Amino acid sequence: MLRVESVRVRYGRRVAVDGVSLDVGGDDARVTALLGPSGCGKSTLLRAIAGLEPLAAGRVTFDGTDLRSVPTHRRRFGVVFQDGQLFGHRDVAGNIAYGLARQGWPRAAAAARVEELLELVGLPGEGRRAVTRLSGGQQQRVALARALAPRPRLLLLDEPLSALDRQLRDRLAGDLGRILREEGIPALIVTHDHDEAVELADAVAVMDGGRIAQVDTPARLWRRPRTARIAEFLGYSSVVAARVERGQATSLLGPVLVNAPDGQFHLGLRPGSVVIQSRGVRAVVRHSVPTADGVRIRVRIESGTVGGPTGVGTVGGPTGVGTVGGPIEVDALGDTAPADGETVCVALDPRRIALIG
Ligand code: ADP
Ligand code: MG
Repeated sequence: MLRVESVRVRYGRRVAVDGVSLDVGGDDARVTALLGPSGCGKSTLLRAIAGLEPLAAGRVTFDGTDLRSVPTHRRRFGVVFQDGQLFGHRDVAGNIAYGLARQGWPRAAAAARVEELLELVGLPGEGRRAVTRLSGGQQQRVALARALAPRPRLLLLDEPLSALDRQLRDRLAGDLGRILREEGIPALIVTHDHDEAVELADAVAVMDGGRIAQVDTPARLWRRPRTARIAEFLGYSSVVAARVERGQATSLLGPVLVNAPDGQFHLGLRPGSVVIQSRGVRAVVRHSVPTADGVRIRVRIESGTVGGPTGVGTVGGPTGVGTVGGPIEVDALGDTAPADGETVCVALDPRRIALIG
């Protein structure tokens, strides 16, 4: 198991990774996704784990062994970067065999392993092709095969699919998940794609400003983000205050069932969290926008008709929540667009809200 303990990495005086602790490869986190805004230190952390950046503090161990004096090529970690970084002068098979030759695999065994990997990544019989002739998706498959070939004890993937278009990315994400499970290699994968994180990972670590803000299963992370900032990063664009009593959270948007003890909380809302139905809290339609999932309807709620709301807020820019006491506007998702100015009834979908805290 990889254990990152209080690791700090600096570039000169700038601290890029600031006291990060994280385990990868335990029974409950074979694959961990690392999620976080651009510049928060994800790549730096990966490079430090790989031995490509020196640690200013803390340590990285694998199965209890401190890796401080173990150089990158002896760590037995496979690394895949965003742009593959293939060797242009070698063909596909030559790229995949690279690590095998370094490890002194006998020629026949290496050739067999290359064939096995070509099969695994969906490029059977393509060994003799020039990598410069491959599409972006094929290049990333070769990069993955090259990293997997020497049977690494850990795979580090830095946004391996982000340079690809949407359709290809979805397909490759599915393949990558299958390959990681089949090969049984623990992995830490940096991504900025939430769907990818949920699809691939047993655990998701949210990083922010050089620190780990939360580590949880995908389901729990999206249900219970620890702070409003994490909730915002996960796509909850509005926050409302709520009082929980006997499993029911009451806010300006009415009552909704939650799994939480009695007390004051905030609820994180995304468009799908608010539904338009025949009964509920009255809201006035501001405007509607068609989306791939239905119609996104901006509604304004003057005051909740149920319970005793204690205040509401919307996420105020990138730095957190600004609480305001007055009416709020939230996005609801519907099948058809009501007329602007029409009064509708809204309610919260308990499966699509976050309880913050
Ligand atoms: P992420 O991968 O999350 O986008 P990075 O790890 O690449 O973030 O960068 C973290 C911070 O460190 C950023 O502020 C970035 O500008 C800085 N940084 C990254 N690489 C270097 C470098 N080689 N020299 C100096 N600063 C760097
Ligand atoms: Mg990066």
